[in-house]
Amino acid sequence: MTKEKIEEIARRRGFFWQSSEIYGGLSGFYDYAHLGTLMKRKWENLWRDFFLNLSDDFFEIDTVNVMPENVFLASGHLKSFVDPIVKCKKCKNMERADHIIEENLKENFEGLTPKELDDLIKKHNIKCPKCNGELEEVGILNMMFPLDVGFDTKAYLRPETAQGVYVNFRREFESLRKRLPFGLAIIGKAYRNEISPRNLLMRMREFTQAELQIFFDPEKIEDHEKFHEVSKYPLRLFPVEERKHNKIVELTCDEAVKRLHLPKFYVYHLAKVQQFYLDLIKIPKELFRFRQLSDEEKAFYNKYHWDMELYMENLGGFKEIGGVHYRTDNDLKGHENISKQDMIVFVDGRKFIPHVLELSFGVDRNVYALMELFYKEEKDRSLFTFPRILSPYDCAIFPLVNKDNIPEKSAEVKKLLHDMKFSIFFDDSGSIGRRYRRMDEIGVPCCVTVDHKTLEDDTVTLRDRDSMKQVRVKIKDLRGSLYKFLQGEEIEKLGQAVTKSEE
Ligand code: AMP
Repeated sequence: MTKEKIEEIARRRGFFWQSSEIYGGLSGFYDYAHLGTLMKRKWENLWRDFFLNLSDDFFEIDTVNVMPENVFLASGHLKSFVDPIVKCKKCKNMERADHIIEENLKENFEGLTPKELDDLIKKHNIKCPKCNGELEEVGILNMMFPLDVGFDTKAYLRPETAQGVYVNFRREFESLRKRLPFGLAIIGKAYRNEISPRNLLMRMREFTQAELQIFFDPEKIEDHEKFHEVSKYPLRLFPVEERKHNKIVELTCDEAVKRLHLPKFYVYHLAKVQQFYLDLIKIPKELFRFRQLSDEEKAFYNKYHWDMELYMENLGGFKEIGGVHYRTDNDLKGHENISKQDMIVFVDGRKFIPHVLELSFGVDRNVYALMELFYKEEKDRSLFTFPRILSPYDCAIFPLVNKDNIPEKSAEVKKLLHDMKFSIFFDDSGSIGRRYRRMDEIGVPCCVTVDHKTLEDDTVTLRDRDSMKQVRVKIKDLRGSLYKFLQGEEIEKLGQAVTKSEE
């Protein structure tokens, strides 16, 4: 399955496509179509449900995309949020310097200085990938989008949601229970003027982040009150020192603390993030790892930084979809300096600026990953075996024929499920086989068919996308059965098996 194939299905069936396509589009901007929107929303709701529930002191806020210049002076983005670029002397094409070196030498060169990148380009005689022309010296470009607000007020589109939390920290802390750890989450847009947007939803110029900023007392970083719950839980880790062996190591949380000298507060949250992927979304474990960033790769303010990565064959290996960043007090201190507003809290008899642990997820990258990881081709069909809870629709409903009172009965079944807030796709056109195939192709996990037998005994068939097995379920039990199915129950346990001859 290639990237082009995902793009083709995404466009044909309505997951996503390039924005403003009728005008030729703009590189790095995508619109979610009807199916993509449903999936993105489900992913976001799952994320909310899981991460906000980790503590009674975690809350979600919703803040603006446009922020004044001083915010980014304080955060360091004005000075440091830059990418190394090279321009071709001949065709004027611009590329990320580290990316073209990476493509030529098949190694990761993030974090090197422009001078170091320049030396590598010269040493390996790297040329423009478009026209093979000579490259100019490596320069830097700030990735933020500047804006004028009114006539003369400089502002920027936020390059990360995190700053929306930091500028609101003080007020939220005061209006809540004034205790730590305390978390504020934002799911929202971020904007980066990427030099070479690529790989569909993986590197865009406007994208969605889901980020949770956890404020805590730095003196308590060596513990977490629920660490005992995860102490024996094995983490899949790719530490810097294992890079040369290209080996993922499995260490329990206890071992990670001892051997990698990571604080328990940090490791507890690694475990929760991994559980989100492996236990809830059911990503096969061999496709998941945490990759430790080296000192050169991580931002200057991050003391610990491990990225979540998923193995995506089409994109050439493990790719970053999020990160767990210990940002220390860098951001709140920066805002205190520039805004002159006090960020000190008084907790447990001490005064200090809280430190921040950030759990950061790229929503679009996660949605893309679902499409890449769960696509399957079988003899007679292609399908997405999306996790049941993340499929665009929970279930489809088909009237077998459009006569004999079957449409009316189907409408009743639809209402029954709709009233319980299941998301339903109703389809009454084409042969039943084709309707099943259409739902398989967009990953709907199960289909309910209303047929003549329904009129006799008030049962419907429930068909499982993956095994294609069907069972008959009483309409009065359907809501419960569908709920159990979406939670992972096997289809056979939900009703009377339908034999091949009855289908
Ligand atoms: P960062 O602040 O660079 O660590 O970004 C946090 C997360 O946002 C990353 O792990 C990605 O999942 C996501 N992300 C960053 N840049 C982009 C982009 N250009 N397009 C899509 N997602 C992105």
